[in-house]
Amino acid sequence: MRAVITGGGGFLGSHLCEALLLRGDEVVCLDDFCTGEPANVAGLRDHPRFRLVRADVTRECEVAGPVDAVAHLASPASPPDYHRLSLETLAVGSRGTENALRLAAAHRARFVLASTSEVYGDPEVHPQREEYWGHVNPIGPRSVYDEAKRFAEALTMAYGRRMLADIGIVRIFNTYGPRMRPDDGRVVSTFIRQALAGEPLTLYGDGRQTRSFCYVDDTVRGIVAMLDSALCGPFNLGNPREHTVAELAGLVRAATGADAPVEFRPLPVDDPTRRRPDITRARRELGWSPRIPIEEGLRRTVAWFTDGSGPDRRPAPHALTTTARC
Ligand code: NAD
Ligand code: UDP
Repeated sequence: MRAVITGGGGFLGSHLCEALLLRGDEVVCLDDFCTGEPANVAGLRDHPRFRLVRADVTRECEVAGPVDAVAHLASPASPPDYHRLSLETLAVGSRGTENALRLAAAHRARFVLASTSEVYGDPEVHPQREEYWGHVNPIGPRSVYDEAKRFAEALTMAYGRRMLADIGIVRIFNTYGPRMRPDDGRVVSTFIRQALAGEPLTLYGDGRQTRSFCYVDDTVRGIVAMLDSALCGPFNLGNPREHTVAELAGLVRAATGADAPVEFRPLPVDDPTRRRPDITRARRELGWSPRIPIEEGLRRTVAWFTDGSGPDRRPAPHALTTTARC
């Protein structure tokens, strides 16, 4: 298969590029590196079945030669990134998704959208099943991401219903692992960076909000299963084991061996209170479920952070604690 991966230079995308190359596929990676890192795919550049195209998919999404599949991962994904790149996030969810869908339609290729658990917003239903429509603030600070992904899902479904493309949607829950940017502001990378630097762990709110953390290899295996299937979904891809953020601080302390204290900060606006995927549908129809326990995943991630990629490579981001009304 010859697969185009938009956002292939990012955290998840670069692992997906590797997974497809490893099993013999050809990969075209389209990325403008607005949040990704050329270093993520530097090791692949001389691979005979890998091609890197530096492009903004909101402007152009054309690829010479055959295309059998398009995995659309391009989008800022961490809260500080999508705040900083608010208009770009809306553009890549809308125009970027349409361009990626057009590419798939032109080649009669399989199209998979990397959507997100954020489509459920601050969920009133727990755990979240795919049937749940969500509870999203359309004008809050997170809306640039949440609504862009909801629009991307609607557009993808419209292409599917008009039979313009063979589409599928995965809703990815918090994923972590090697190649997260130490400064991306997400909780796992931030806690690991802080613990390794001997700094306090910044706990937003009272730390009782929950997330369900999935190791990157598991998430990527789910995306590959979706690319290989003819299923539409949407499918939740996430680890059903749920932790409070305070518990995560303890797990990171254990994985790093650091005795870092906790420093409380204000809870960001509209921060979801609880999040846990119901993965019954993915188990049943895709035959997918996560395998890596969080203790093992954190151990591998900490090893990567300490292995030359450095906790202090970049300055720490400003915490996303916007309290302004708009
Ligand atoms: P990331 O920021 O590391 O990767 C996103 C990539 O998209 C980056 O390389 C970035 O440069 C690229 N990109 C953004 N806008 C682009 C544009 N207009 N044109 C070309 N490239 C562009 O983030 P990630 O965590 O790897 O997320 C990848 C995808 O998975 C995103 O769509 C995200 O919404 C989705 N997702 C991720 C998670 C997670 O926990 N990592 C959870 C839910 C959904
Ligand atoms: N969080 C935190 N400290 C940090 C960064 C994040 O306590 O330094 C919290 C954040 O408020 C949220 C959870 O950790 O409740 C997950 O945040 P992240 O940005 O990783 O993902 P998302 O909120 O998009 O699920």
